[in-house]
Amino acid sequence: MALELQPGDEVIVPAFTYVATAEVIALLRLTPVMVDVDPHTFNLTADILEAAITPKTKAVVPVHLFGQSCDMEAIMQVANKHGIWVVEDNAQAIGADYILADGSVQKTGTLGHIGCTSFYPSKNLGAYGDGGALYTNDDELGPKCAMMANHGQVKRYYHDAIGVNSRLDAMQAAILEIKLRHLDQYAAARQKAAAYYDEHLGSVSALQVPVRQANSSHVFHQYTLLVKNGKRDDLAVHLKAEGVPSMIYYPVPLYKQNAYKALIPADFQDLPVTEALCESVISLPMHTELDEAALAFICQAVKKFFA
Ligand SMILES: *Cc1c(COP(=O)(O)O)cnc(C)c1O
Repeated sequence: MALELQPGDEVIVPAFTYVATAEVIALLRLTPVMVDVDPHTFNLTADILEAAITPKTKAVVPVHLFGQSCDMEAIMQVANKHGIWVVEDNAQAIGADYILADGSVQKTGTLGHIGCTSFYPSKNLGAYGDGGALYTNDDELGPKCAMMANHGQVKRYYHDAIGVNSRLDAMQAAILEIKLRHLDQYAAARQKAAAYYDEHLGSVSALQVPVRQANSSHVFHQYTLLVKNGKRDDLAVHLKAEGVPSMIYYPVPLYKQNAYKALIPADFQDLPVTEALCESVISLPMHTELDEAALAFICQAVKKFFA
């Protein structure tokens, strides 16, 4: 809304993501253009982005999926060359570091024109209820975003734009203000659990543990395995029987979701990497309170399946 995009403008989004990434695009009657992702990082790449750009493209929403940054420097280069907006979906990667080619470090969500995050309780910085935030370094976009989130008003009861109520309520803000101070500590706890999983599951030949990129830290919103032997669903059933919760993020490509089918062009070709990932990913328990006994129990249950 702050970018003043118009119905029919194309916005590029990865098809392997949570539905919220495309939802606002559809609600604004923009055209979501769904593209594939990299098979190793599960993220949008600059090459995939560039191949999807048309004269109607106005924006792209890179998603830092599971807690690791897209290659933002390359994405910004392509976006700037074509004059399109970059709105980072940082819902899963708040606190992650992106390392630029010159060695400098920037937080994910601050590399594009606007960054968005969610404070849903299960997120890396979770409130005690729903909430979210936008961030921007742009002096024009900042006040505009704030205005849009507050019924389009700058001065109370004077409305310059048609906005929404998307204010963060004071109770959640108070909780988040305290929790924000511990964000790095939360990431460290998740990284410690991930390192344990890597160490104990890395040798299972049917599994691919999360690929770490050199130019990003990983804050592990999810610890997501690729099951390479086609038995992902059997593994999920086995884990459930063993008392280990697991989850499939995400089982259905965006373009196959009932609500979005009508927005897909007739000549749309299924995206091979997205299709394969939806069939083969599984996420293990990941949060800040996993102790070694729990991690050992989980790894044992996984290994038992492949033994
Ligand atoms: C959680 C999430 C969102 C949106 O979160 P809400 O707080 O429900 O709006 C958007 N994108 C991704 C990738 C997410 O994981």
